Amino acid sequence: MKLENVIGLEIHVQLKTASKMFCACSNDGSPRQSLRRSAGENQAPNTTICPVCLGHPGTLPTPNKQAIEWSAKTALALNCSIPHHSKFDRKHYFYPDLPKAYQISQYDEPIGTKGHLGEVRIHRLHLEEDAAKLLHKNGESFVDYNRGGTPLMEIVTEADIKTPEQAGEFLRELRLIMRYLGVSDADMEKGHLRCDANISLRPVMASRNRPLTPSLVKEGALIGGSGEILYPKTEIKNLNSFKAVERALSYEIIRQTKVWKETGEAPEEQGTRGWDENEGKTFVQRVKEEANDYRYFPEPDIPELDFDKNWVTKLKAELPELPNQLRGRFQEQYGFNAVDAKLISQDRALASFIEETISELLGWLESSGQEGSAEEIWEKNKAKLSKLVSGWVLSKLLGALSKTGKELADITPENMAELITLVYSNKTNATNAVIILEEVLNTKTNPTEIMNTKDLGQMSDDGAVEAAVDKVIADSPKQVAEFRAGKEAVLQYLVGQVMKSTRGKADAASVGQILKNKLS
Ligand code: ZN
Ligand code: MN
Repeated sequence: MKLENVIGLEIHVQLKTASKMFCACSNDGSPRQSLRRSAGENQAPNTTICPVCLGHPGTLPTPNKQAIEWSAKTALALNCSIPHHSKFDRKHYFYPDLPKAYQISQYDEPIGTKGHLGEVRIHRLHLEEDAAKLLHKNGESFVDYNRGGTPLMEIVTEADIKTPEQAGEFLRELRLIMRYLGVSDADMEKGHLRCDANISLRPVMASRNRPLTPSLVKEGALIGGSGEILYPKTEIKNLNSFKAVERALSYEIIRQTKVWKETGEAPEEQGTRGWDENEGKTFVQRVKEEANDYRYFPEPDIPELDFDKNWVTKLKAELPELPNQLRGRFQEQYGFNAVDAKLISQDRALASFIEETISELLGWLESSGQEGSAEEIWEKNKAKLSKLVSGWVLSKLLGALSKTGKELADITPENMAELITLVYSNKTNATNAVIILEEVLNTKTNPTEIMNTKDLGQMSDDGAVEAAVDKVIADSPKQVAEFRAGKEAVLQYLVGQVMKSTRGKADAASVGQILKNKLS
C-alpha cells in the first residue's frame, strides 16, 4: 500500500501593536518584540492588566483598529480575499488562563479567506485575543495575565503540505512575511509565532475525488472540505521551533504508517498529541473537541465590522515589497542567482544594504571612464558584478561581522562599495581587502585611507615586483632546477615565496607570469 502525507498547519501570530486587542493596556507584558523599548525582557507578571482584560463583569471591549488593519494587510499579503463584512464571536471554554471563560475570536466571518502562500492554500485568517500564560513549576501553578488580551492572528492552511520539510519552509516564509510587514517579530522561541500541525496519511488511490464506498468507510475515510477523501487526523501541539515541527511530523508519519501497515486501516481516532522534544516522540493528550463544543455565538458587545472597498484598496497599495517579490527583483534587476537572492531576502536590512552598496558602485562605474551609462555597464557585466557583490557582502562581510562581533550598522554602503571597487580595480588583493574590511568595522575609517596608511595596496611598481622575483630565484636554486627539469608544480611554491616577501601586495597572476618568463 502506497501512502501519502496530508499535512495542514494552524498558526497563531502575536501582533506587536502598542496596546492589547480590546483594552488600552500596554501590549508590552508578553515577551517583547524588537520595535518596542528593549528587546527580550518581560514586564513583571500581572502588571499590564485592567478590568477589561481580566474579564470583570460590566466591562466592555473596544477593538484595536491597528490590529484589524494589520490582520487585513497580512491577509492581503497571503493573497486572501477580504469580505465586506466581518464580526467577532465568543468561543467558550473553561480554563484558568481565560478569565471570561470565553475567548473573543471569529467564527464564521473571518477577516480573510481563500488565500495562498506559494502552493499552499490558506483556508482563513482571523483575529482573536490571546489567553493568559500558565506556568507550572515545582508542583505549583502560576498564571500571568499580562499576555491575556494580546492581539493574535490565527492562520489556517488547507491540508496541502506533503512533507515535514515543506511545512518548515512554509513557516519560515510566513515568519519572513510578518517581519517584512512589520506586524510581528514572529519569533517562535518567544511564542510570537505558535504552530499546531495536523497530519493524516492516505492511500495514494484515495486522493482523487471519489465517492465514499463501503470499503473506504471501513478504513475510516471522511470527506474533506474540498470534496477530497481524508482520514482522521492527529493534531500535534506544543511545537515551539521550526525543527520541532519537522521532527514531530516525521515521527507521526512513521507512527501512522505502522498503524496502516499493521491493520490496513487508518488510526481510528481523531486526537490531539503533544510533542516531547527531549524524547523525540508525540504522546496522546486528549480527544479533540468539535467546533460545536465551544458554543460559539456572536459577541454582543462589539458592533459588526463593515469593510469599505476603498479601505481595502488603500491597504493593498500600502503593502511593502514581499520576500518573493524582492527575490525576483534582485535576480532580474541586479543579476543575482536564485541561491544568493534567497539568502539576501532573509534579512530586509541586509537587502537594503546591498541595494545601497550597488547604487554606490553604479556611481563609481559612471565615473570610471568606461563606455555607456552606469546601468548599461552593470547590465553588460551583471553576472560578474553581482557575484562580486554577493561574494564580498554575503561571504566576506558577514564573516568579518561574526569575527569582529560588529553589526551591519558599523559599515556604510559607501565604504562597502569603495572596498569592492579597490578589489575590482586591482588596487588591493582579496587577502588584504579582508584585513582592510575588518579595520573599517573596527575604526569606521574609509578603506582607501586604511589601505594607504597600513600599506596594504597592490604593488604597482613593476621594478619592485621584478626585484622580488629575482631575489626568490636567487634564493631557491633547488626549486628553480626542479622547475627547469619539468616539474611545473614548483611554480606555485615560487609564487608563494614572492607573495610572502611582498606581504601579499603583489598580484599573484602577474608574479606567475614574470617567473615563467624569467625561468624559461
Ligand atoms: Zn487590559
Ligand atoms: Mn485560536
